[in-house]
Amino acid sequence: MADLNIDYDGLKKRGFLRQKQDGFFVLRIRMSLGVYTLGQLQKLTEVSGKFGRGIVHATTRQGLEIPFIKFEDIAKAEEELRAAGIETGASGARLRAITVCPGNNWCKSGLVDTFSLYGRIEKELGLVCGMDLPHKFKIAISGCPNGCTRPQAAEIGIHGVIDPETKQPGYVAYLGGCAGRAPRSGFRLERVFSDDEVLSLVGRVVAFFKKNAKPRQRLSQMIEEMGIENFLEEIKA
Ligand code: SF4
Repeated sequence: MADLNIDYDGLKKRGFLRQKQDGFFVLRIRMSLGVYTLGQLQKLTEVSGKFGRGIVHATTRQGLEIPFIKFEDIAKAEEELRAAGIETGASGARLRAITVCPGNNWCKSGLVDTFSLYGRIEKELGLVCGMDLPHKFKIAISGCPNGCTRPQAAEIGIHGVIDPETKQPGYVAYLGGCAGRAPRSGFRLERVFSDDEVLSLVGRVVAFFKKNAKPRQRLSQMIEEMGIENFLEEIKA
């Protein structure tokens, strides 16, 4: 039964989602690159042992979450993780953690440096997980056409490719995909982008969405409403 005095939305923003079981919350870590250090993993297991039930669950989008945190332990668990440099929270109408495969950092099939593109999106565009937007917004980056992070099912999906003309590595982009109850496959932009070009595309799409989408409207719905041609003209793609 929901307690009307509890700000569940605020807790969600901080990374604490209500569980099916009354009085318990699942604590979702803010993922970065899908790479976790030994220290972070140790701290997560420690917090799970102290405030949860000693288990950590891996989400489908490379995140880690600790279930069975009691409401009264939320602040303490949050404080411990923060002190260890672990951020929490990105649910709701926000930019979600960017899912990213290893790309050419260690995968044999990798054609591009996915971690580097991720870093540029955060640092140069200032697009960080948790940023408020009209609705949830996902970005997925894959290092090759195998698309292990499912780029076609994200608002912006990117994968590495060899440009058939230059024979150099570049990027293919998909826009307007989403999973969920009304899944849609993103449409592919029929050209190969360079690092700088794909970075600029990401910036333009997110900025346009932020400014023009209605509250609780996914990118796919916005594109459907305005038409693909108009959308592409607006984002100058
Ligand atoms: S998408 Fe390609 S580069 Fe990335 S993990 Fe899969 S096979 Fe490797």
